[in-house]
Amino acid sequence: MQLLGHLLHAVKPSPTLAITRQAAELRRRGVDVISLSAGEPDFPTPDHINAAAKAAIDAGQTRYTDVDGTPELKAAIVRKFQRENGVTYDTSEISVGTGGKQVLINALLATLNPGDEVIIPAPYWVSYPDMVRLAGGTPVEVSCPAEQHFKITAAQLQKAINPRTKWVILNSPSNPTGAGYSATELKELGAVLLGHPQVYVLTDDMYEHLSYDGWVFSTMASQVPALRDRVLTVNGVSKAYSMTGWRIGYAGGPKDLIAAMATIQSQTTSNPCAISQAAAVAALDGPIDFLAERNEVFRQRRDLCLDAFNDTPGLMCRRPEGAFYLFPSCAGLIGRKTPAGVELTNDVEVSRYLLEAARVAVVPGSAFGLEGYFRISFATSTAVLEHACSRIRQACDQLV
Ligand code: PLP
Repeated sequence: MQLLGHLLHAVKPSPTLAITRQAAELRRRGVDVISLSAGEPDFPTPDHINAAAKAAIDAGQTRYTDVDGTPELKAAIVRKFQRENGVTYDTSEISVGTGGKQVLINALLATLNPGDEVIIPAPYWVSYPDMVRLAGGTPVEVSCPAEQHFKITAAQLQKAINPRTKWVILNSPSNPTGAGYSATELKELGAVLLGHPQVYVLTDDMYEHLSYDGWVFSTMASQVPALRDRVLTVNGVSKAYSMTGWRIGYAGGPKDLIAAMATIQSQTTSNPCAISQAAAVAALDGPIDFLAERNEVFRQRRDLCLDAFNDTPGLMCRRPEGAFYLFPSCAGLIGRKTPAGVELTNDVEVSRYLLEAARVAVVPGSAFGLEGYFRISFATSTAVLEHACSRIRQACDQLV
């Protein structure tokens, strides 16, 4: 009898794995590899959040909580949505999970039937298509090239929707491109969705607080209130508050869907960590002035890498509105030969070459559904980024 079940066959092996494995192997051999593949801020969790967690332990808040979040955290999330997004939710419309990831998979598991389609603009965050497949649905990728700033247009959305469409996933600012939808763009997409009452919208707002150059974040539930009962607004504390390890994500959405998500969670993991929930209350209710300071550091790092890439023959990069990723085109390197005479025929080979020759680990664009690019995270120190960019430059200059 086979050990592995059919669900595993639904998930394709990650194309990033080979590079990650190779980077780890090089490091084991003592090679100093710079990894620009991490999706987390390098800043520490702010002190007032840590203090709230310690106080929660001392107060004995170490037991099971309500399955999908404590009343205190749900109330803090209601306040957050009202204050920052102008969207009014009741606590019965809030779900808290172990990271944004669990909230996303709960929503898909709770709603997808075989044959249901989920529209995913590409490039996308790597987990969306596999989560859809794991939940028994069919991902439908819509290619959104650089000319449209990697964003889906209203015309593309209209064309992709059919009677089998259950969800469309929007992620702004985006992982991997950093591209963000404006209020006007969301209204245009919303106008299309109003004409298709069977389609639900999942907005992944995880990078809401990471934005640059005065770009203003908007979300579908506030821009198109008529869609409110068909929108699941997913967010979390991982990225904004440097709390990736605490594992708290949340969502606001229609009561029936939220109840169904709680049912799934009750039979899988139960409540997210009680102590992390107490910390998340402090994060959401607490001061956010540190965000502006951190964003300024991120902006400087973004500009450093952006200038370096746009100065490197063969690379070309658009200036992102938010998040902490750059997604440069490496189309200009494809077809060129390494000093050893090997022709680079795609972005996976470019990424492998950068790992071997520059000793910098990046993620090929094809992992995110768009070939001819690679992704770097600039959530690492300025000194390391300077080093990485100059090594990438040297490696590119060696190609013939
Ligand atoms: N959504 C996007 C776009 C992400 O990039 C990530 C993390 O990388 C998540 C969701 C998941 O966040 P969490 O760490 O809270 O599960």
